[in-house]
Amino acid sequence: MALPTAAGTPERAAAIDAVRADVPDIPISDEAGLVRRRSTDRSALLGPHMAVQTSSSLAEAVATPTDEPQVVALLAACARRRVPLVPRGAGTSNFGQTIPLDGGIVVDLSALTGVTAVGDGWVRARAGTMLDDVDEVLVPHGAELRIHPSSKRMSTIAGFVIGGHGGVGSMRFGGLADVGNITGLRVVTAEESPRVLELRGASTGLVQFSFGMNGVVTEVEVATTVRREWRDVMFSFDDLGSAMRFGWDMTVSDGLELKNCMPVNAAMAAHLTPLQEFLPSGRAAALAMVAPASVEPAADVARRHGGHVTMDVRTGEGPRGFPGYEYTWGHAMWWLRKGQPTLAEVLFLLPEVRPVESLLELVERTPGEPWVSSTCQRIGGRPSPQVAYGIDGSVPGRLAEVSAIAEELGCLVVNIHRPKLTSASIRGFSAEQRAFKADVDPFGILNPGKLEDPDPVDGAGATGTEADALTASGWASRFETATAHPAAGPTGPA
Ligand SMILES: Cc1cc2nc3c(=O)[nH]c(=O)nc-3n(C[C@H](O)[C@H](O)[C@H](O)COP(=O)(O)OP(=O)(O)OC[C@H]3O[C@@H](n4cnc5c(N)ncnc54)[C@H](O)[C@@H]3O)c2cc1C
Repeated sequence: MALPTAAGTPERAAAIDAVRADVPDIPISDEAGLVRRRSTDRSALLGPHMAVQTSSSLAEAVATPTDEPQVVALLAACARRRVPLVPRGAGTSNFGQTIPLDGGIVVDLSALTGVTAVGDGWVRARAGTMLDDVDEVLVPHGAELRIHPSSKRMSTIAGFVIGGHGGVGSMRFGGLADVGNITGLRVVTAEESPRVLELRGASTGLVQFSFGMNGVVTEVEVATTVRREWRDVMFSFDDLGSAMRFGWDMTVSDGLELKNCMPVNAAMAAHLTPLQEFLPSGRAAALAMVAPASVEPAADVARRHGGHVTMDVRTGEGPRGFPGYEYTWGHAMWWLRKGQPTLAEVLFLLPEVRPVESLLELVERTPGEPWVSSTCQRIGGRPSPQVAYGIDGSVPGRLAEVSAIAEELGCLVVNIHRPKLTSASIRGFSAEQRAFKADVDPFGILNPGKLEDPDPVDGAGATGTEADALTASGWASRFETATAHPAAGPTGPA
């Protein structure tokens, strides 16, 4: 839906001034440095296409409300003046989610902080509360977050729920979309007279992974679990296949108390620089987060695959004090990029049939040596190993070529190289989410341009390059079938 003003025009500037006059108590700055900083996220991490996008798409102002009534007042003013809004937590997302595609005002929610309630098995916090602070509050309750991104120390709770999909803990509890993980969301609508809605249970799925397009979240309630004194344990293996099969067994061994596990090939292991003394050269590895009582049995599982333990430290007491999870999930590519500035990532789920064999075949058919890291997770209760596949993005056509081979082998590839929510994303945007958006954002001012256009190649925000044409199926089908047909499980980790 086209807005009456365009980014960068005098008419848009006048509309923003009018918003400013409507809400004089809310700081709205157009200081260039601040606007530039709040218009970017961490998307450049994933490859050259997003690097171009993050440096070229800017907002026009930054608003910093400090409480929910101010959020309501700001949304009312922006709806009246038809000014685009881009909600933002800490800006650590990396699928271009916080990059403004039509200028407007970034709503920085980082001042809405604090845990508001802790119950038996759940916690509720204001949108801008850092995930690490939420976990801290849970310590005296003997509880902890079930799932958090590897960026727990840098991300907000609402940013994770609206922009993330899973992370540390997902090998036991599944992803954010799995039933029971998000229990409630408080959402402000983008209307001239905004409503404040409390979504419970399955309704939270209308807003989860919506890239800030389905209302501004002011509070989040998530399920918690029993707190453990986690240990970071490194296992060494002859090859990637052994490490991957170990990861699969760890995922399905429900007798083990685990929070995380990342198998890597030898090329990737070489880039986890602080951990080198625990990573024998030329060997694959797996880094896991294990409860103390499960370290010994986990070592037994490793032995089944010819592996052995090379490190066993309390989480956060490893080299340079990094918690082990800060090498996994999104962090794996972060470490890799330090040594490989031309890195591009292909992100996919392995097929349910012959997952490990498919990955090994992909490696064999990939020109140059790829950097492979896999994170163990479940979707709908079933193991769904995710692979971050690092390649040299400076080679023209390489990204498209590797994505196509992965698809041919049955992997579900996501296109993470366009700042849009499309059917090729982790989750698509369901008919229910579209209907909800029409209700809560009738003027289309929330993160406009983010949703796939009828013709994605010509859409706003398309880079007009290889990124638009990448073969990608998205993961929506896995989310659907995982819950609909739990009996039709995979045939095993061949
Ligand atoms: C090193 C690294 C590791 C990562 N690891 C993981 C991982 O393990 N798992 C994972 O899923 N992701 C991961 N990510 C991606 C990202 O960190 C997470 O999604 C993160 O939780 C985002 O939080 P944030 O506060 O930075 O949100 P932001 O980046 O600020 O926002 C994310 C999205 O949510 C929207 N949004 C933010 N706040 C609100 C609100 N209050 N109301 C409505 N919309 C809102 C924004 O518009 C944007 O679309 C990683 C990123 C990096 C850089």
